[in-house]
Amino acid sequence: MTHPDTAQDDLTTAPFTFTEHQQRFATDVRAFADSIAPGYAERAVSEEFFWEIHREIASRGWLGVTLPRELGGMGEPAVTAGLLMENIGSADFNVGLSIFAGICNSGLLGQFATERVRDEWLPAVLSGERLVGFALTEPGAGSDARGIQTRAERTADGWRLNGSKTSSGLAAIGDASIVFARTGDGPNDISVFLVPFDARGVTPGRIPSRGGKPIGRGTVEMEDVVVPEDHLLGEIGTGFSMIAKTFDYTRSLLGLLGYGVATTALRMATDFAVERKTFGQPLYHHQGVSFVVAEELARLEAVRWLAYRALALRDAGLPHTKEAAMVKWLGPRTAFDAVREAVILHGHRGYSDLLPLQQMLLDLEGLEIGDGTPQIQKLIIAREVFGAAKRDATQQ
Ligand SMILES: Cc1cc2nc3c(=O)[nH]c(=O)nc-3n(C[C@H](O)[C@H](O)[C@H](O)COP(=O)(O)OP(=O)(O)OC[C@H]3O[C@@H](n4cnc5c(N)ncnc54)[C@H](O)[C@@H]3O)c2cc1C
Repeated sequence: MTHPDTAQDDLTTAPFTFTEHQQRFATDVRAFADSIAPGYAERAVSEEFFWEIHREIASRGWLGVTLPRELGGMGEPAVTAGLLMENIGSADFNVGLSIFAGICNSGLLGQFATERVRDEWLPAVLSGERLVGFALTEPGAGSDARGIQTRAERTADGWRLNGSKTSSGLAAIGDASIVFARTGDGPNDISVFLVPFDARGVTPGRIPSRGGKPIGRGTVEMEDVVVPEDHLLGEIGTGFSMIAKTFDYTRSLLGLLGYGVATTALRMATDFAVERKTFGQPLYHHQGVSFVVAEELARLEAVRWLAYRALALRDAGLPHTKEAAMVKWLGPRTAFDAVREAVILHGHRGYSDLLPLQQMLLDLEGLEIGDGTPQIQKLIIAREVFGAAKRDATQQ
């Protein structure tokens, strides 16, 4: 019998160290992040998109950090993108999400769009002129993505799409979405299309939320929307393999985004613990305070290196589905818990809007759900662990 694939059995390694180039890159990103950090709380409660910051980021090439150079990207490994997310996350969660969308969607366009669509859209996304979202979730199908009902049918010269998408990042402010639609009745008959929002029959909308406001998460209604034949991304029926490969990458990036947020909250808490005195002592003299900081930092550090391990495995071309799911489950949760402790350590101040900690909690709650909930990550981990045993059982 094959044993389940537990961590003890896993001796897979990928060469990993931050190169000097990556360390310089992280320092540059950190300097930029520090310059935008003071505006985070104000931007987070506004529905205005931060175009100026976005274009500055685009001009530095960061929206295409892992895109091959021949497509206009920086051609960096996935680990470098992790450094970008971690450092921007320490300053502004939503700016991190907009970079994340740029990385993810420029990657899909670069790899799967036809030459004409790629030439039209990719430079505009990379230069920060246009925003393209990712529309998989529907009112009737989220975790169970195979249940999507949006349909794409062939016409004489293209595709006609009908259906409703929801909870799609950038929907309310963007220019197009990468839309997953059913092109047959089988469970895997899902294909992917670029749907420009100026096509007739598309109605994008905003979902009111207290987190993620500036990135305009919303709905995309499609009624008899016709897109040209060349707006199909990849081959017909390959939507699910595209989703799986994308999520294996993006889940680690999101884990590091959350890590960045939490490190800022803990830095605020440690500064406060040095300045604030109670019972004649700085707060950090009380073990009840210093141990909380020690515990949260230890947990965050573990998540951070799990995320880089998943990214390094990806860069080495090794399987990393399980590790990415672990990061996506544990990362946002650990970050949320750390920020919550930072709130408590700040006393009443932490509960107020005078500090950004409550906003961070809202942002991290969204991070736990987007790109797959904790339960779905555990289903993936369990499938990876018990897959071999299950295969054995079915062969007997
Ligand atoms: C901030 C944010 C950003 C997002 N961005 C995007 C985006 O850009 N594009 C996009 O397409 N979607 C996006 N989403 C949507 C997100 O991917 C879905 O919300 C998520 O996949 C869950 O789907 P659902 O909300 O329909 O919940 P449901 O699938 O209805 O699940 C409800 C609850 O039941 C649990 N559950 C479901 N099935 C099982 C099971 N088999 N076992 C155990 N528990 C289960 C879930 O974990 C969840 O807790 C975003 C969501 C958020 C909050």
